[in-house]
Amino acid sequence: MLYIVSTPIGNLKDITLRALEVLKRVDLIACEDTRHTRILTNHYQIKTPLTSYFEHNKFTKADYLLRLLKEGKDVALVSDAGTPGISDPGYRIIKLALDNNIIVTALPGPCALVNALVLSSAATDKFIFEGFLSPKKQARLKRLMELEKETRTIILYESPHRLIKLLMDILEVFGDVEIACVREMTKKFEELKKEKVDILIKHFTKHRPRGEFVVILPRRAKVGKKNYFKTR
Ligand code: SAM
Repeated sequence: MLYIVSTPIGNLKDITLRALEVLKRVDLIACEDTRHTRILTNHYQIKTPLTSYFEHNKFTKADYLLRLLKEGKDVALVSDAGTPGISDPGYRIIKLALDNNIIVTALPGPCALVNALVLSSAATDKFIFEGFLSPKKQARLKRLMELEKETRTIILYESPHRLIKLLMDILEVFGDVEIACVREMTKKFEELKKEKVDILIKHFTKHRPRGEFVVILPRRAKVGKKNYFKTR
């Protein structure tokens, strides 16, 4: 059986009892970076062997994992943080397992996009997740221009070293709208900033962006209307 197991996005305590039980009981844990996952397994005295499953070995490793599953072994799939498959590897092995009639189940747990969305207070009734936009400026601008017609809340992931570039492109396409930048959730320096884009650009130019970011463009009632956060 293949277990898709969500793991903490920062605070090691954010793991379910069932996730710990499964990680202890399976024959193998397939993770991205074994050094990273070992921090979690050591913390909880989990002795299960780890094997790396990441973007560059996903084809060969997925076949290997499938062989084990077919032999009747239990495998847990985790990523470095949060939910496997969400801007992380996982899709290929999950699909392969299902196509080969292996029983697959997903254990719910942390996911940065959901955490950031609810924390930001942007409307949650309709939202879209765009993950990481292209690192290439033209492609990023093109996608933002398509999204400019969007009336649902938009959720983006971004790395600290590209954050300011993303904010400048948002300013160019959406104008000086109010958005949210959520940083380092569940960690010591967790921070939520809900400001106009121009203020955020000035802020992050002065204070170099550090850590992990989710950017939220709150939903607008209609294209052309002001975007809004819910009042608390
Ligand atoms: N699988 C993960 C999930 O379920 O959210 C996402 C993995 S993706 C490679 C990593 C990105 O998720 C980061 O660049 C950041 O945008 C977001 N992220 C992950 N942990 C975060 C945290 N603690 N605070 C803010 N953003 C986070």
